[in-house]
Amino acid sequence: MIHKVNCVKRKTYSEDDSDEERDSIQIGHHYMVKRKDNEWSKAEVIQRRFNKQGKFTEYYVHYDSLNRRLDEWVPYDRIIVHNNESSDESESYEGARSSESSEESSQLNLSPFKTLPSEENDGARAVDDVEKEHAEITKVKYINTIQFGIYEIDTWYFSPYPDEYGEQEKLYICEYCLKYMKLEKTYRYHMSECIWRAPPGTEIYRKGTLSIHEVDPALNRLYCQNLCLLAKLFIDHKTIFFDVEQFLFYILCEVDKHGAHIRGYFSKEKESPDGHNVACILTLPPFQRQGYGKLLIGFSYELSKLEGIVGTPEKPLSDLGKLSYRSYWSWVLLDILKDFHGCVPISYLCKMTSMTENDIINTLEAMNMLKYWNGNDIICVTPALVESHILSPQFKRPRLTVDANAITWCPYRTQQNSPCEDRNHIKSVCVKMVPNLLVMASGGGKSEDLKDNA
Ligand SMILES: [Zn+2]
Repeated sequence: MIHKVNCVKRKTYSEDDSDEERDSIQIGHHYMVKRKDNEWSKAEVIQRRFNKQGKFTEYYVHYDSLNRRLDEWVPYDRIIVHNNESSDESESYEGARSSESSEESSQLNLSPFKTLPSEENDGARAVDDVEKEHAEITKVKYINTIQFGIYEIDTWYFSPYPDEYGEQEKLYICEYCLKYMKLEKTYRYHMSECIWRAPPGTEIYRKGTLSIHEVDPALNRLYCQNLCLLAKLFIDHKTIFFDVEQFLFYILCEVDKHGAHIRGYFSKEKESPDGHNVACILTLPPFQRQGYGKLLIGFSYELSKLEGIVGTPEKPLSDLGKLSYRSYWSWVLLDILKDFHGCVPISYLCKMTSMTENDIINTLEAMNMLKYWNGNDIICVTPALVESHILSPQFKRPRLTVDANAITWCPYRTQQNSPCEDRNHIKSVCVKMVPNLLVMASGGGKSEDLKDNA
């Protein structure tokens, strides 16, 4: 059975038919373009090509102020061409294409995208020269879909598959060894021949049907490179493809009678001077919103606990990554705080969670648990405040959690017999006791005064 994710029907146009149309659409100009969800948005036309399989001309567009994940190839009939560039009267275009089948929208599943903030509205996003260069190099995505196991998956971003592989509209990828192929018949033949049924490396976690393998590129370089190429189709910012030796890869699979099927992975530096416990993290699109992302995040912190250090993911996080981490951090902290009466030092929270002091403070601040007092940040948590967060709809226990007892793992440093460094070891933070309040002071604030002001 084939599961189609985010598919769209296309009208076909012959090469002859579309000559006039192609001339009327200019590269670099903006037009109103119909998105997959049938909404009209202003978009810049970035590239044009003739689709040999479908025999029509199509255009690569970037929707103004929408995430580049939504950039896509569209046929002429989804673009409104005027003498002048587009106006903002998008409503007037609804009728213009109303004869098209409404089946399209029923097949689409854009729900993961709808709540995302636009790039334009994300004030924190700094665009520097490196960003511009990155955008320039990666702006056109040629591979539209991949066949991966039983799933046909729409891709999100450009990935630097080499030579003609990177120019295919559809790429076939073995879900076990990650070999990529251009032709369906090659793929069918490979699937009948491939002896892989699980990731390489060492299985370091097994609980029920969930399995996690640790893969060292020093032993399985090609697999790790192929994993990075696959992941780049769904991660906007990722620069490591071929120089993978400095990382370890943790592959999460669901195991059934046929084999171990990848759901997601994260990579982690073998030695991180900046205290990062995750470099890249991804749940493949068909398996998102099923708890795998939080399981991977939780697992990364379990590894940090075993290393006896605090860790934080490498920045920048994607918009989806930020949501997952914020939700995970809130849950972890509230889950600890709900059982406490009295005082919890930040150093204790660091030790319990392997989260950094910064991530703990930022998370508590977002939950309105941070006060500014006498020139110092004071973390002030009442049992009632913890209770109200736990009862709120935002507080969700992750669907899948890690059973630390099922991990069989040795930290890389121990594997290499090198001594641990003190650099990232848990810091102790000043603590003040206050009755009936959970108060943790950062930087020596006079928290005893809070009794009368909380
Ligand atoms: Zn294979």
